[in-house]
Amino acid sequence: MQFKNTLEFARELDKQDELARYRAQFIFPKHKGKEVVYFTGNSLGLQPRSAARYVEEIMTDWANLAVEGHFNAEKPWWEYHERFSEKLAKVVGAKPAEVSVMNTLTVNLHLLMVSFYRPSGKRYKIICEEKAFPSDQYMISSQVRFHGYDPDDAIVELKRRDGEHNFRTEDILAKIAEVGDECALVLIGGVNYYTGQVLDMENITKAGHQIGAIVGWDLAHAAGNIELKLSDWKVDFAAWCSYKYMNSGPGNVSGYFVNEKYHGKKDIPRFEGWWGHNKERRFLMEPEFQPESGANAWQISNAPVLALAPYLASLEMFDEVGMPALIEKRNKIVAYLEFILHEIDKEVDSSFEIITPAQQEERGTQLSVFLHGEGRELFTYLMENGVITDWREPNVIRLAPAPFYCSYEDMYKFGQVLKQGIQNKKSISKL
Ligand SMILES: *Cc1c(COP(=O)(O)O)cnc(C)c1O
Repeated sequence: MQFKNTLEFARELDKQDELARYRAQFIFPKHKGKEVVYFTGNSLGLQPRSAARYVEEIMTDWANLAVEGHFNAEKPWWEYHERFSEKLAKVVGAKPAEVSVMNTLTVNLHLLMVSFYRPSGKRYKIICEEKAFPSDQYMISSQVRFHGYDPDDAIVELKRRDGEHNFRTEDILAKIAEVGDECALVLIGGVNYYTGQVLDMENITKAGHQIGAIVGWDLAHAAGNIELKLSDWKVDFAAWCSYKYMNSGPGNVSGYFVNEKYHGKKDIPRFEGWWGHNKERRFLMEPEFQPESGANAWQISNAPVLALAPYLASLEMFDEVGMPALIEKRNKIVAYLEFILHEIDKEVDSSFEIITPAQQEERGTQLSVFLHGEGRELFTYLMENGVITDWREPNVIRLAPAPFYCSYEDMYKFGQVLKQGIQNKKSISKL
């Protein structure tokens, strides 16, 4: 399709957009009385209008039923988390028994490493990406120290080539082969939080298995953004937060995946609690742990129902729309944003560099833009003019137009504000 950088054209695309009606299902912050252009759905997704109702339902059940709500609420609390399995499984390409929800992301990765990072003998190293999201760095470093290893020795970082912004699959595979039987675990972010690069999870998982390692994925920027096939790819474990693309609310509960080949094993090392105990026998308070079937055996505490409520509201919308439709719109809206960036770049003779891969298979919703010659003041200008982006040092802005609620008109408006921001600065610097 031949794009045009005009308001009429953007509005025409919105008219043809089958998901356009979902925009009204989300609450946009306002700036000077107008809805903002929201590009930070990769950081905190917008609030679905239905979320408050789901929370209110729990509050009402609590008021009216108190402890009886565990069994007698309309959505009984004791099994509330089970409502997620089937729908989340579709989002991440898994079997319902392989996914569930609990805790938060870093906590879940730590807990999953109890089962899946079992260093012994010469096999003790963890392969991860360089400049990983800081929480992942702290997590991996503290895990290897917990097991008595030196992070400098036990952590192998995948590197980008000099002068390149993205990882090359061939380099990742070569590094995995090189570490070979010293590698206990490969644990990487499936979509890089900084560049938006989507890694070749299928082939990396295969390579990890070829050297006898366990392979886990941090899917913080992947869940609800890209197509995932965790079961088919034979991933061992994964976890993701729900408040980014999955719009569940700040700091909210994480989802996790445990491959079915680990289900029902009694001898697996795992930190256990009563919510992972056989559901039918849970309240018999027996001394011996009997694992629930499936990923739910990794549950520990009783479900945080008030937190799960807005996540469920959002997940039901994902289920209604389906990932294929979201991905179809995502591809088009991101391509349009990319086009607008190139157009504005030509008009103002600036020099942006989109560091996210250009190929559709290697990117999701996010475009990370290196603003050569522009500084933080441009980011501030965007904020002051109702465009919410995210700034990362040295001077990268991350733009993530979530297909659920962003419009093509938003892309056009963003382009205009960006152009004014750069032109203003140029005219000021000439004075
Ligand atoms: C957002 C993000 C996190 C956040 O972790 P929490 O435990 O939810 O605070 C962790 N890892 C990556 C890669 C992220 O993008």
